[in-house]
Amino acid sequence: MSTDLKQARLITRAVKLLFAGALSLSAAHLALAADSSNKADKETTLYFNAHVFTAEYNAPYAEAVAIRGDTIVAVGSQSAVEKAAGKTAHKVDLHGQFLMPGMIDAHAHPLMGGVTLIMANYADDSVSIPNLVAFIDKQIADKKSFIGDTLVIYDLDLGYWSHSAELDAILSQGPYAAMPIVLSGGDGHTGWANLAARQRAGLNAEFVRQLPAEKQKFFGLGSDSAPNGFVVDFGKSLIDASLPKPTPEVMFAAGVAGVQYMNSVGITGWLDAAAIGDASGSALEADDVGLLPIYQELAKQGLLSAHVAAYPVVSPDAGLGQLALVEKLRKQFKDIPNLTIPGLKVFADGVVEYPSQTAALTKPYSNTGQTVPPMFKQAAMNSMVTEADKRGLLVHVHAIGDGAVKAGLDAFEVARKANPNGKLKHAITHAQFVDPQDQQRFAQYNVIAALQLLWALGDPSTIELIKPYVDASIYPNMYPARSMLEKGAEIAGASDWPVTSAAPFAAMAQAEVRKGPEGVLFPEQRMPRLAMLYAYTRNSADVLNQLKTIGTLAAGKRADLVLVDRDVLAVSADELKDAKVLATMFAGKKVFGAGL
Ligand SMILES: [Zn+2]
Ligand SMILES: [Zn+2]
Repeated sequence: MSTDLKQARLITRAVKLLFAGALSLSAAHLALAADSSNKADKETTLYFNAHVFTAEYNAPYAEAVAIRGDTIVAVGSQSAVEKAAGKTAHKVDLHGQFLMPGMIDAHAHPLMGGVTLIMANYADDSVSIPNLVAFIDKQIADKKSFIGDTLVIYDLDLGYWSHSAELDAILSQGPYAAMPIVLSGGDGHTGWANLAARQRAGLNAEFVRQLPAEKQKFFGLGSDSAPNGFVVDFGKSLIDASLPKPTPEVMFAAGVAGVQYMNSVGITGWLDAAAIGDASGSALEADDVGLLPIYQELAKQGLLSAHVAAYPVVSPDAGLGQLALVEKLRKQFKDIPNLTIPGLKVFADGVVEYPSQTAALTKPYSNTGQTVPPMFKQAAMNSMVTEADKRGLLVHVHAIGDGAVKAGLDAFEVARKANPNGKLKHAITHAQFVDPQDQQRFAQYNVIAALQLLWALGDPSTIELIKPYVDASIYPNMYPARSMLEKGAEIAGASDWPVTSAAPFAAMAQAEVRKGPEGVLFPEQRMPRLAMLYAYTRNSADVLNQLKTIGTLAAGKRADLVLVDRDVLAVSADELKDAKVLATMFAGKKVFGAGL
């Protein structure tokens, strides 16, 4: 068995054992697994005869790369790199293979992604209730996909939610009456809870009735105006908060699985967009450390093979006191290898798809006549962003609707005027609808757009669930990546995993073709290949505020490398989509695959 296979098995085994709670492997043992391919500290390795993409603007291509310890010592032509590497360098012939920087995901939730890896996923999009019930029965029999006493299933097709009453008629009765069941939508914002789960969360007709009207819409209601189990955003976080807490062992196992998965798709860095808090966008509480201890433990055991920028969620309306809490967290979790807390995350709105419709659009939804405002008061957001900028904290804004994007940009405009010498590059993520008037404002205020372009395709999620309900003047401004690029926006690549796959090459290919089962979504917005490669390397490094040390291949930067099975600059979009990572190296250590 190869070392890699052994390493992969060891880690998989560690995950299973920890998850089962049967045995916890010693820290030293796990660290050994991660270090098994460690290079002798000062040995230089020369990778030659490669197709190298460096992501450096002034020299994007090269033939060879030399590394020493965790650092790149030279990149360039074969002769130049050979000279820099010295005669004693260990030489590796890459036989013309494609080598590039470790990729960076500018918005993801990899620990939650890890939970979905170790729990059951139901990716079947047939929207067949009998199939789903059969799957649930199997999970109950297998006893694996439980958090405490609650059966949890991830990644459900959103098409199930319009059948919430049917789900309730089956899954809240008989054998399921006493067992809490929670189904989570593939969008990360929606879900469904059976009667037992709703009872535990205190969710009943009376509860919904006493809510203000604008909060009632986070719950699906039956004809008797009792909840039918469907929940979105605020509703989902009510259910999520009532779940038994995953044990630290489960979260650690999820972390191991999440890191391993990210490395396997060539990712060596990410922005964790809700390291504390969730999509309800509620205020950061004193002493809430969220997932940070899990990252800390992964780092301690030598298993955090990625640069992680962890963002706590704050609520602008809850005041500037939260900034002091973020600063306190930075102190509390400083000096942890590969972990930074560069700033904070703000939700400007929810999601646009029917029936959720919590995204802030500038015009009303046609079915309800309602205009959804941003989740914050503009003045509170303005002072939050201005003060964060002044204190050197990055702001990462979730904005789906054109109204939310506008509100985010308005706040960045105020901050730029207040702090004209500020150099921080803040970011807006998703940007599903961007008013053409606002597209150049990204460049104007130096705000990076962290885009999930895997979502830019013609399918029910962008057509049936949106087009009938969104004003015809807004709808064509969906995922306007190319327009933004041409108006000077810095575009970073992001996945929002586990909402959708984190595999970067699939997202790059999608950004380029925008083709789905129901056709091409606004073909004029297709992205150029090279722009997407920059998006997932240097531009994402910029989102993490780490471009000085990662994101490109250049002497002095960290040796984060990815070996790919094809030339992703030369192949067709179809072949790009299927590109496989052969090996991933993080800080000079091989963390996935073979060949480096
Ligand atoms: Zn989001
Ligand atoms: Zn997210």
